[in-house]
This record gives sequence, structure tokens and C-alpha cells, in this order.
Amino acid sequence: MWNFKQAYINGSFVPVLGNEVVEILNPATEQPIGTVTLGNRDDARRAIAAAQHAQQTLGRTTKTERIDMLKRLQAAVLVRSEAIRDATIDEYGGPIARAQWVSQYASQCFANAAQTLETYDLTRRAGEATIIMEPVGVAGLIAPWNSAAGTICSKLASALAAGCASVIKPSELSPLQTQVVAEALHDAGLPAGVFNILLGRGADVGDEISTSPGIAKISFTGSTATGKLIARAGVETMKRVSLALTGKSASIVLDDADLNTTIPLALSSAFMNNGQACIAGTRLLVPRSRLDQVIEHVKNIVTTMRVGDPRDPLTVVGPLVNRAQYDRVQHFIRRGHEQGATLIVGGEGRPAGLEKGYFVKPTVFSDVGNDMEIAREEIFGPVLSIFAYDNEDDAVRIANDSIYGLQAYVFSSRPERAARLASELEAGTVLINRISPELLAPFGGVKQSGIGREFGVFGLEAFLEAKCIASA
Ligand code: NAD
Repeated sequence: MWNFKQAYINGSFVPVLGNEVVEILNPATEQPIGTVTLGNRDDARRAIAAAQHAQQTLGRTTKTERIDMLKRLQAAVLVRSEAIRDATIDEYGGPIARAQWVSQYASQCFANAAQTLETYDLTRRAGEATIIMEPVGVAGLIAPWNSAAGTICSKLASALAAGCASVIKPSELSPLQTQVVAEALHDAGLPAGVFNILLGRGADVGDEISTSPGIAKISFTGSTATGKLIARAGVETMKRVSLALTGKSASIVLDDADLNTTIPLALSSAFMNNGQACIAGTRLLVPRSRLDQVIEHVKNIVTTMRVGDPRDPLTVVGPLVNRAQYDRVQHFIRRGHEQGATLIVGGEGRPAGLEKGYFVKPTVFSDVGNDMEIAREEIFGPVLSIFAYDNEDDAVRIANDSIYGLQAYVFSSRPERAARLASELEAGTVLINRISPELLAPFGGVKQSGIGREFGVFGLEAFLEAKCIASA
């Protein structure tokens, strides 16, 4: 049992002033694995003050100095990659393959930010003026639990590359991942206050960060509902706000796609991270003429999908993060039935043989209408809805009939046709015949899936402000 009572402020682990204790259960066993004492508003104020102090020096660093810091962070996080992988599995049941990927990504994003900064012009000309890209100031980085290590590191990497000191608030549901990452980052030996990390409730520590005049920029990843609160809270002090929010991604299978390669990929996208991924392709759109064939394929694969111990490399779907998430997903499966969708595989309750743990049966519905709750809301669990479309226009209409627009997938054997369709989809990213991301390209949502972009040049610029100097 671990027992964390510290925040990382001004270069040291210090006892938190808050006194709320939260117990964390291993979601695969429902056994307690540790407790954390959450920080409060006073802790947040201490962290903001430390970052403000560090900003004075960090804001004047050169590109070379920042690249050096990023490389030190990359190396320090890489050393702890096994611990990051294990924390990801223990704390929210991420299957081992996914947890392994996250643990590598956590260090790789510092290398990516260094590479981006290397070739980026911080000073340039526009007409007779000189434009200087300056750090926007102290950044508040607020992260969810579903890929905590990766989100903490990628936000920190972009902020630091731009020369912004930060106050990082991961989810109160991810203390173990946070602790392991904080220890790794500390080992890099960066100047005190350049980054500060504390856990706390959103309504308390999160709100303090979102309203503080000491914070110039918020980079938030989480739900659309919380993103709206943060945007409203930040406007009073005119904070720059980047929001990476909820998704409800469509996967469109065109009639020329090879189903033997397409369906396994589409299912991997739907059930990635146990369905707890903003980019999960949870709406599968297939030509009506191939619907029966697709359903048969899907049924064959999902029926044999291994659900269980996330440490087992054969496991495809591990447990959901906690009881609340389990109940939420059960609710949506029930609503799918009630609203008239046809259950293809899965359904309510735990999978056979798994009496403990927040395990859900991978569930697939067909005959889903776009007005049903399972079609409109992000379920954040392993639940897939299949829609039949009549022609390409119909597919685009169904895909775009959502308030969200984070990511979409197109599967086709004709690249030009797929690219044409991609241009019509309302999504920040469209992946064609692949589900792996491009980490140097911009990532973010349109519509209510967010504001702004992360990664690469766009992620760097989200922490920069253009200053114009023109003289007679
Ligand atoms: P959440 O919105 O409940 O919480 C996210 C973070 O916001 C947590 O750290 C939380 O403490 C904090 N928070 C809550 N209320 C706050 C407030 N009033 N002020 C400031 N901070 C506050 O989300 P979650 O349940 O942790 O994560 C799941 C959601 O995140 C899903 O909707 C998922 O789609 C989304 N997500 C999006 C992306 C993306 O890149 N678009 C990536 C991962 C997750």
C-alpha cells in the first residue's frame, strides 16, 4: 500500500496542506492499493507562486537551453518507463500493450518537442516589423486519468519548449501515475519551480488554477463539461485556453475495403484502452449492402476477445477505472436496449467468470439510430454502435451528425476516394487505414471536442504569443 501526502513544489516534494484522503482501488481486483492526501487551494497558490518566480528566468532562456532541459527530461522519464507502465496497469487497468505504449510515449514527447523547437523560428520578419515569439507566461496544465503519464509529459514538453513554467494538476484518480512521473521528472534536475505538480479536486485546486491571475494559459484535457467550466472561469483574467475534450469518433468502412484487415483495426480503435479513450472509434458506419457480412465478422472477433487481467498480454479489454465508470457504462447498455438497438454481442453485467473487478462485456449494437443516447454520448467503455449507410453522402451525414469532432477513421482500398471522404468529415484528425497517431502533427477537436491543437509546431505555438516590434 502506498500512501502519498506530498506535492512537488519549487523543486521538492513537500507535505500538502490539504487534508482530504482518497483511497484508490485496483480496478481489476477492487482491492485498495494506496491512499493519497489531496492538495487544496493553498497548495495551488504555493505552486503558482513557485512557477511565477521560475518564469522570470525561464522566459529568458535560449532555445539551446530549453532543448537541453527537454533532453534531460526525456532521459529521466525513459529510465522510469517500466514503473510508468506498471502504474498505468495497476491504477486504471490499462492493458499491458497500451500501458507499454504510454510509458514510451511519455519520454518520446520530450524528444518530439525538442525536435520541433530546433527548427522553429522564434524571431522572424513581417513587412518592416520584427516578430518575436515569446512565452505566454505561467501555464496551468490540467489532465484526466485515462492516460495520465502521457498527458502530463506531452503538455509539459510543449510548455517548456515555449519557455513557460507550469503548474500541473493531474486527475485525483491518478495519484500513482502522477507520483511515478513526478519522481522521474525531478531526477532531470531542472531549476526549481519550472514545473510544479499537485493533485486536488477540480472544483478546488482546478478552479484555483483556472481563476488565478498568476496563470496566463490553461492547457486542459478532459470532458467537454469541465472544459466549459474552465473556459468560463478563465475569461475573467483573459487566459489563453487550449481544450482537448470529449470525442465520439466515427469509423467509416467504404464498400471497397478489405474486411479481413479493416474490421480488426476498427475494433481495436473502438475498444482501445478498454474503451476509455477520447479517440475511440465507437460509431462504425458500414455500407448497407455489407452490413450482414460486417456483423458476422464483428461477432466472431468480439466473442473471442479476452477480457480480464490487464497484466496478461493476451488480454484485449481490462477493467474500467472505477465503480462509477462501470455503472455509467451499464446504464448506456441498458439505454441501448430500451431505445430499440439490436444487441449483437455482450450486454449488461460482468463477463462470465469475472466476479470481482470493474469488468464490462465488450458490447456491440446494430440498428442504432443517430438519435439514441448510445449514438450521441461518449460512453467511455467498450461499447460499439454499428450504423448502416446507403451511399457516401449518407455516411458523411451520419458521421457529422454529432456535437463532437475529435477524430475519424476511414477504411478503403482506394486512397483518393478515402482522402476525398476525409475532406468532408468534421473532425480534427482523420486516419485512413490506420489507427496509430502521428505525434508531430496537430491534434485536437472541432465543434465541442475542443479548442486549439497539441503536438508539433501547433502545440508549441499554443504556449507562445507573437510580439511585434516596428521602428521608424
Ligand atoms: P474530467 O473532465 O472529469 O476531469 C479532467 C480534469 O479536470 C481532472 O484533473 C479534474 O480534476 C479536472 N477538473 C474537474 N473539474 C474542474 C474544474 N471545475 N476546474 C478545473 N479543473 C477541473 O475528465 P475525466 O473523467 O478525468 O477524463 C475523461 C474525459 O476526458 C473524457 O470525456 C475524454 O474524452 C476526455 N479526454 C479527452 C482527450 C483529448 O485529447 N481530447 C484525451 C483524454 C481524455
